[in-house]
Order: sequence, then C-alpha cells, then structure tokens
Amino acid sequence: MAKWVYLFKEGKADMKNLLGGKGANLAEMTNLGLPIPQGFTVTTEACTDYYNNNKTISDEIKGQIFDALKILEEEQGKKFGDTENPLLVSVRSGARASMPGMMDTILNLGLNDVAVEGFAKKTGNSRFAYDSYRRFIQMFSDVVMEISKSKFERVLDEIKEKKGVHYDNELTAEDLKDVITQFKALYKEEKGTEFPQEPTEQLIEAVTAVFRSWDNPRAIYYRRMNDIPGDWGTAVNVQAMVFGNMGDTSGTGVAFTRNPSTGEAKIYGEYLINAQGEDVVAGIRTPQPITKLHEDMPEVFDEFMRIATLLEDHYKDMQDMEFTIEDKKLYFLQTRNGKRTAAAALKIACDLVDEGKITKEEAVKRIEAKSLDQLLHPAFDQVALKAAKPIGSALPASPGAAAGRVYFTADEAKEHHEKGERVVLVRLETSPEDIEGMHASEGILTVRGGMTSHAAVVARGMGTCCVSGCGDIKINEEAKYFTLGGETIKEGEYISLDGSTGKIYVGDLPTEEASISGNFDRLMQWADEIRTLKVRTNADTPEDAANAVKFGAEGIGLCRTEHMFFNEDRIPKIRKMILSKTVEAREAALEELIPFQKGDFKGIYEAMEGRPVTIRFLDPPLHEFVPTNEEDIKELAEDMGLTVEEVKATCDSLHEFNPMMGHRGCRLAVTYPEIAKMQTRAVMEAAIEVKNEKGYDIVPEIMIPLVGEKRELKFVKDVVVETAEKVIAEYGSDIKYMVGTMIEIPRACLLANEIAEEAEFFSFGTNDLTQMTFGFSRDDAGKFLDSYYSNKIYESDPFARLDQEGVGQLVQMAAEKGRATSPKLKLGICGEHGGDPSTIEFCHKVGLNYVSCSPYRVPIARLAAAQAVLNQAK
Ligand code: PEP
Ligand code: MG
Repeated sequence: MAKWVYLFKEGKADMKNLLGGKGANLAEMTNLGLPIPQGFTVTTEACTDYYNNNKTISDEIKGQIFDALKILEEEQGKKFGDTENPLLVSVRSGARASMPGMMDTILNLGLNDVAVEGFAKKTGNSRFAYDSYRRFIQMFSDVVMEISKSKFERVLDEIKEKKGVHYDNELTAEDLKDVITQFKALYKEEKGTEFPQEPTEQLIEAVTAVFRSWDNPRAIYYRRMNDIPGDWGTAVNVQAMVFGNMGDTSGTGVAFTRNPSTGEAKIYGEYLINAQGEDVVAGIRTPQPITKLHEDMPEVFDEFMRIATLLEDHYKDMQDMEFTIEDKKLYFLQTRNGKRTAAAALKIACDLVDEGKITKEEAVKRIEAKSLDQLLHPAFDQVALKAAKPIGSALPASPGAAAGRVYFTADEAKEHHEKGERVVLVRLETSPEDIEGMHASEGILTVRGGMTSHAAVVARGMGTCCVSGCGDIKINEEAKYFTLGGETIKEGEYISLDGSTGKIYVGDLPTEEASISGNFDRLMQWADEIRTLKVRTNADTPEDAANAVKFGAEGIGLCRTEHMFFNEDRIPKIRKMILSKTVEAREAALEELIPFQKGDFKGIYEAMEGRPVTIRFLDPPLHEFVPTNEEDIKELAEDMGLTVEEVKATCDSLHEFNPMMGHRGCRLAVTYPEIAKMQTRAVMEAAIEVKNEKGYDIVPEIMIPLVGEKRELKFVKDVVVETAEKVIAEYGSDIKYMVGTMIEIPRACLLANEIAEEAEFFSFGTNDLTQMTFGFSRDDAGKFLDSYYSNKIYESDPFARLDQEGVGQLVQMAAEKGRATSPKLKLGICGEHGGDPSTIEFCHKVGLNYVSCSPYRVPIARLAAAQAVLNQAK
C-alpha cells in the first residue's frame, strides 16, 4: 500500500518533493528536537492522485489521514470534537516551492457546537473559545467553501453596532454566541446545508480545498511566472493548534534571521501580543519589531534567538520563521529559506561565503538569476528627488523607484497597464487575488500591513517597488480618490513611490539608471569562473552596445540592421529604394544609404572594442517602411518624380496577407541582391576602418536571416563574398570575415547538415522558430494564450521560455546535424529566449557556444549560464 501521509517525525529535509517545503522543514525541525506543535503531512503524491481520480480523495488516503489523526490525538492527549479537551488543528498548503496564490491557512479546525464548550472549559475562557469558533466558521466558509468574507464582516459589523461597540474584542461571550448563530444561518443560506459539525468532515473538506487551490487561476499564474511545473502538486500540513491569542503572555510573529531587504546580518521581524497568525500577515494591526520582545518577555526572546541561530546554521541560509508564544511557551510553526530582494540575496550569499558557511559555487547557485533584474532597475533622478516634497511616507517594503497613474483595484491596474500606461496600485491591503494587478504595476502602495504583509512579501519576490502600511492614507473607493498629507489624488493621476525610503510623492518623477554594488561584481566574477557558455547581447546602437559591455557582454549576437533605417534622415532613402523600378535606380538609392550604415557600424565596432559582432542583414517585409500618411506620400512622389497615385499603387502592391511568412529575410536579398551588396560594403568598410584606426582585431560576422534551404543561403552568400572581397582588395586589407545564418525555420533544422556546408555559424532565432513551429503568430498569440494557460494546455508563454519539448528538439537536432557536417560550427541563440534562465540551461546542455540577450539581461544570463554548469554537475 502506498504511503500517503507522514507524521512530522517520519520525514526529513530532503523529502521536499513528497512533503512540500513546509512539511519537509517541519519534519526536519522535529528531528532537531525543536518545539514544534506536532502533526502530519498529506503528500504531494496524494494531490496528484486526487487530480488523477476525478478530483476525489481516495478512501485509502482518507484512512491514512484518520490513522495519523488518531496518533496525534494520543500524543496530544486531546480528542477531535471532545466535550472536555478538544483537539484543534491548523490546515495549510505547502508545495515544493513556496507559492503565494494558493490556499490560505485554516485555523482552529475541529471546533463545533460541542467542542467549543469543551474548549471553553479547558481554557477557562469562554469569550476566547467562542471568538475562536466564530473565526473558524468565517475562515472555513471563506477559504474552503468560497463564501465571501465580506458577508461575514457585515454580520459582525451589524452586531457591533447593535451592541454599541467599536472593536471585535469588546464583544462578550454572549455577543459572540449571537455572532455564531448568525454566521451559521448565513452559511446555511449560502450553501443550503448546516455548517459541518463533524470535525473529520471539516478536515477532509479542508484538505480537498488545499488540493483544489493548486489549480486556481492565481496559482496557475504564479507557476507560469516562476517556471513551476503544474504536475508537482501541493502537500497539506495538519498541525496541532497553539494559541497566541490567550492574553498578554501570548503572541505570534514572523521573523527573518537576516534583513530580507538589505541582507544585513541582524534578526529582523515583527510580532503581535495576544494575536493569531493571520493578524500579523494580514497587517490589520501594526506589529512591534522583534527586538522589542526582549523587553516584553526576555526569556522567550533568548530562546527564540537560540533557535533562530540554530536554524540558520543548520540550513546555512537566511531563515524566514513563524512562531507563536502560548502563555510564555515558545513554538516554531515553520521555517524556510526566506524570500529576499536581489540586493539582500547578494549580500547574504557573499557574507555566508566570508563566514565560511558556504562555497562560492553554492553562493552562485543561491541567487535567483531573474531577480538580478531588480538591481538593474532605475532609481529616481537625484536632483528631481531632492526638489520633490513627499506627501507621506511608510514602510520601504520593496526597493526601486516607481512612477505611474493611480488605480485602486488590481483589475483596473491590469487593464490600464495593458493599454500601455504605467500604473501604481493603491490598496487598503493586498491579497493573493491581486497578483496579476500587482505584476502589472510599477509600484504598490498599501494602507495596511507591515514588512511581512502580503503586499511586501509578494512585491519583493517580483522585484516590484512597494511602500506598505501608510495608515495616514484615506481612500474613498467609491469616488476613486485618496488623500494624504493634505493632497487629494484622483484615479488616473500620477504618484511616485520610493521603495527604498518609503516616501510617497505627487507627480511623475523622472528615473535614472541603477548602480550596482560590490557584491554584484564579486558574484558575477564567481559566475564567470564557472560558466562555459559565452554571453553576448542584442544591440543595434553604439549606446546599447556600450551599456551591454558594462553589464559584461562579450560580443553582439544580433544587430538588427533594419532598426537603423527608421531614423528621420534615412527613412526617405530606404523608401526611395523600395519604390525604385530598376536595379540602377535601386542601386543609386542604396548608395545614399551606405554612409549611414557604415557610420552606425563603425560606432558599434568602436563601442565593442574588438569583441565579436554579428550583423544581421535586412529582415522585415518592405511594407513596414513605406509611408502611410498623405504628406509623406506626397513628399516621396515629388522626390521620385512620380504621381501620388503611382506611389500609392506601389505601396498597395507591397501588401501581403501574411507578411511574417512573406517577402522578408533572405528572400529580400534573393530578389534584390543589391541590398545585400550595400550592407556588405557598409559592414566591411566600417570594420576595416575601425581595425586600422584602433588596432582591434575585428572579424565581421555577417548573418543571413530566415534561411530554409542551402541553395538560398549560397545565393546570398555568393553576393556577400563577392562584395566583401572587392572591398578588401580596395583597402588592401588582410581582414577575415565570416558568413553565417539564422536558424528560424523548421526546414532549416531538418536540413541543418546541408545548410552547414555554406554557413560558418548558426544563430537560433527562436522567436521566428517558435512562431513557425507552433504555427501561431508571435504578435497575436497573446490574445488567445490565456485560455491555453487556464485550460492547462500550455503552462508558459512559448515566446518567453523556450518550448524545450518541441522547438527545443528542433534546436538540438539542428545543432547535431550542423556539427556533423562542420564539427567546429559556432552555435548561438539570439531570440528573446536567450535571456531566460531555463532556456539558457537548455542551451548549455545542447552545447551551444553562446547566448545573446538584451543588455539588461546580460547579468542574468551570466549567472544562469554558471548555474547551468553547477546543475549539470549535480
Ligand atoms: C528571431 O526570430 O528569433 C530573431 C532574433 O529575429 P527577429 O526577432 O528580428 O525576427
Ligand atoms: Mg527572426
């Protein structure tokens, strides 16, 4: 019989896949002899089984849950639903990777009309017992049964008003009995059945709800953002309750062994006296800093510090811990490697190396490559910042600078972001359903919540600027405005947030580039020592190229030459070329373009200081260049001695039904070889001149796009070689050059052995290769892919993360076939995927020589390439 349920004492830290992160750590802490309320974990495999069995929990699994429950009852000396001393448990989800968006915790499960009395007797505090019961009904109804929380809040508010009190804690036990009666009536009205009184039924419903939450839209979205596979499933942890809300010698909190924002090696966290877990995270009351516990309960603080230090030393990483104090007795409810900002991650990793706790390789492995993005994000322009007057300030929950238009709901933030606006989400507090809106926002501002509130934790994880807990803000949600510091800000107006200081400004403050700290360079150097993949950049201008070099780019993997034609001074010339009726006229028009292209290339070669540069020849369909407005058409007609009608007719004739599969790429050079001639001349002249002037050893790499057939490549290559040789002879130069191709068409992959006979290098253009392999347009797929995610057909955007099973197979095949013909064939990738860590790992595995990505992703790629080596060595 399969084992579906593990007591904490039966597990270990390395059983994460089966027990989830939380379950494995609870087991490990139990083994370490720490004060953990005991319990058991229902495995991730049970979750998979639930989905395989038409979303039902099998009798075998239920049986094992009840067996574990029996053992727990014996251990605790309490019984489920008992009239004297009832067992109460919490139920929490716990996947392999921590995953916001899944089910919230259920506390106090096991209470019913009978057990509440037993609980009152046992604690000698009937107010406390009835309050726990009403909280449980509310939480169970909301989280498990999906009855809106606000309906219960309304009932509670009505009763408070009737009793003439302001706060929940002013309600007496008798009042709370009233609340419970009305809560149960509400439940019955909503569900058509009584509130479940049988604790085992409550438990199975709660476990089912956790399994169900694995597939809610928020969880699916989070998985897509973080490359978490859908078939992992989640575990469920059932744990005996301890109570932080039993008076002033009780409390609950969250703490980190090091500062999760800065990485400073000092305990950091918050707690609330006389509160239950959700009060801290929900941010309804403002918590105390953890160091204050030293004054409130010195022995508890010392014990807390002893265990926190022990846990960090044990896991050799910064820990994020939840704890509860029940009448001066300290319990740890969970520990995990804490989420942190990228800056903190770098500092912590470097400090742990310096403290001799981890190796450089471990340090490199620890940093999430994508998170480096945060460090490269802009900050506010210092001058503008000095001149600006803050209207308020709150907690600097997640660093960075954000300016955007204010919206008050996640949906509106998302909607306006999709329209191209920069948005700032302003909320009372955030909750998991806000995740897409948060992701769409430049920054997040909340009225409630501490540094460990949902908004703060999630924003830090996403690298989004966040200022939280600004209690001075008054939001009027109906009229859509808020007031702060005497100012009224309406929906759609700009504010600016400084996530590093917590200050809030009116208006749209300008931002400036990020500066990178010493830890960054240190870690990057370690990564560079490990990686074998080279990292190049996609850059079309000397400025981008120089920026990329600053971030560590070792060359240019893709220079898209067409981008150079859109400048005001060039576009009329390319239009003239397109409209030309004869080869001579076209050549004359192209002749005028040479100085511009050559100038651009010289600038790029200079910026790259001798590093390799791959220049891709003209690629887009020509209609992209032709004029559409009357004035430009008229001007062009005059310039070319044509009538307006003639120009219009030619422009119309360029219309294609399916331009991305039309007259573009090398097909342009097949019909108009003079374009390739002009571009070759510009490249070669620029390279020779910069080589002569600066002494760099330049070997130009000319790249022919969208090839699907060897003879097609040969045709264009012959044009290139003939021109290049002519230029070399003219200059009397000894420069070498290479001609290669992009692999963007499935046919090219199938025939890569033949194509390699004519190509000196391959660069995988995975944007087009993905589009052509899937058969859907890279520009339009966004419109329907959402339905594919929600129906679990695809888990991630194939244009962001390489589809390794399909497109990846083509890449691998082409690499092997190409190298079979030409063992030294240089292989790279220059599609958007070149900056995606999971794709980079794939590129390493299939033996590419380099990846090429946008300048800001170069550090991410350097780190991911090193991690690929370390992961392969595992
Ligand atoms: C590609 O197709 O992957 C590529 C890099 O070329 P472009 O995006 O310019 O089509
Ligand atoms: Mg392409």
